[in-house]
Amino acid sequence: MVKVKLKKKGEEEAQATPSSGEGKEILDMIAGLNRLMKKVESIRGIDLEFDEIILEGVMPPYELLSKLLSAAPPAVGAPAPAAAAEVAEAPKPAIKLEEFKLTPPIETHPGAFAEVVLGATRDEGGTRAFTLKIGGNNTPPYYRFEGGLPHRPVIAHIVFDEDPGLSKLLREQYGDVVEDPAAWAKKLVDVYGAKAITLDLNSTDPKGTNRSAEEAAQTLREVLDAVDVPVGIVVRSGNMAKDVEVVEACAKEAKGENLFITSTSLVLPTWVGVELDDEVLQYYDIAKEYGHTIVSYQPMNAQGLAWLNKTAINKEIPTSKIMTDPGMVGVGYGTELVVTTMDTVVNKALIGDENFQPPIIAAPCNAWLNREAWNKFEEWGSEIERGTSFECATAAAALASGAHMLVMLNQRAIEMTEALLDKIYLTKLTDTRSVMRHLPKNDCKKCGYNTCQEMAEALLKGEAEVEKCEQMTPAGIRTLKRLLNPEGVKPDPAEIANWVVEV
Ligand code: SF4
Repeated sequence: MVKVKLKKKGEEEAQATPSSGEGKEILDMIAGLNRLMKKVESIRGIDLEFDEIILEGVMPPYELLSKLLSAAPPAVGAPAPAAAAEVAEAPKPAIKLEEFKLTPPIETHPGAFAEVVLGATRDEGGTRAFTLKIGGNNTPPYYRFEGGLPHRPVIAHIVFDEDPGLSKLLREQYGDVVEDPAAWAKKLVDVYGAKAITLDLNSTDPKGTNRSAEEAAQTLREVLDAVDVPVGIVVRSGNMAKDVEVVEACAKEAKGENLFITSTSLVLPTWVGVELDDEVLQYYDIAKEYGHTIVSYQPMNAQGLAWLNKTAINKEIPTSKIMTDPGMVGVGYGTELVVTTMDTVVNKALIGDENFQPPIIAAPCNAWLNREAWNKFEEWGSEIERGTSFECATAAAALASGAHMLVMLNQRAIEMTEALLDKIYLTKLTDTRSVMRHLPKNDCKKCGYNTCQEMAEALLKGEAEVEKCEQMTPAGIRTLKRLLNPEGVKPDPAEIANWVVEV
């Protein structure tokens, strides 16, 4: 062991300054370290005792340095000690690192998430134009190197049956339809390209407007008639008995449509294993009777979710008709707790625990419950950008943690999230709206087209080259070219990491 005395607290700094060579470089480093320590000490009264540096197992130059420093320190500006010459002449150690190739371990998992189908076509007893499939993965989220990513997560656009008090940004998007849920749903599908709709029946709250179960079912009927995509409902009256009443009326009205149904008012007993309330049991009975997909909802409670799923499975509802909702909240309001819950769900599902295998649905739209997302407060910058960032970041956290389905509200955040999913899933872009997601939307005309929309249409027809857009980065051009023709192209993991950082 070699000990290098650097400085005693309260004393002048030791000085030993050979004029050249490795010894001087090392001394410079130590002096720099000493200065750093002083800086640290100056922060909030941190008091560092720093008497010596101990260098263990050092190479020859350090031993020489030790000799150098163990001599009495010379006065500032005095000639360097004799040992300095020895330091300068010391042979350089021959260090050769062994080369090796890193092969990431490929693991297999005994379990997998169930596959769930949303909606039902006429052939299947419903009236939807198509169905959507989620789940089915037998690897942690996005472990592409361990297996496939069977189904792209679905984003359901949310509609409220009563204006929840939309912010300025959201009013710009839905202000014209906020009083009419059916028109709102139709706008989401026709204008914004929604592939699934969630109808939030917030007006059924007995402490609010207190609409009846029959009125809720009528609103659902109007939405189902207005759109032909898969539809789900969220009931959150805050009252278990009322929730069950509304769920039953809606399930009956939409029999055969394979709704995805969530009640957020069902409360679990404090202890796992205690008998569940009748309302909870009825909730699952109703879904089974009318053939819908039921969502087990418990905020940030993995064991509670498993308990509910087990209850459904015991009623002979297959995992392919159940989803798990861990109660997503916006960033800054406990997202990390939901992420931890989802980690547990994913790990348990993959080790084969059936109670955790129903796919995960998460609602990043809850980011709008953060007042920071919409409050007008000059120092926080544009509330439009803020709201979008809050929902988008919450969606990214949910996806990265394994969500198979998202419920979202703001079209700007939805577009950014869909663009990320395009890249991760290498989805072939087949419509103008999807191509537009990846263009700058500046309408600068430099490509020779009057608008980005015209350029998008030309790209889809193969009449334009992506490179003609002068506003895109080289990475953006590469990505869009790949998404216009992704067959057989494997994404580069480093590029995927960049896409996530972009979002
Ligand atoms: S150059 Fe790019 S940004 Fe400008 S109009 Fe064409 S596609 Fe749009």
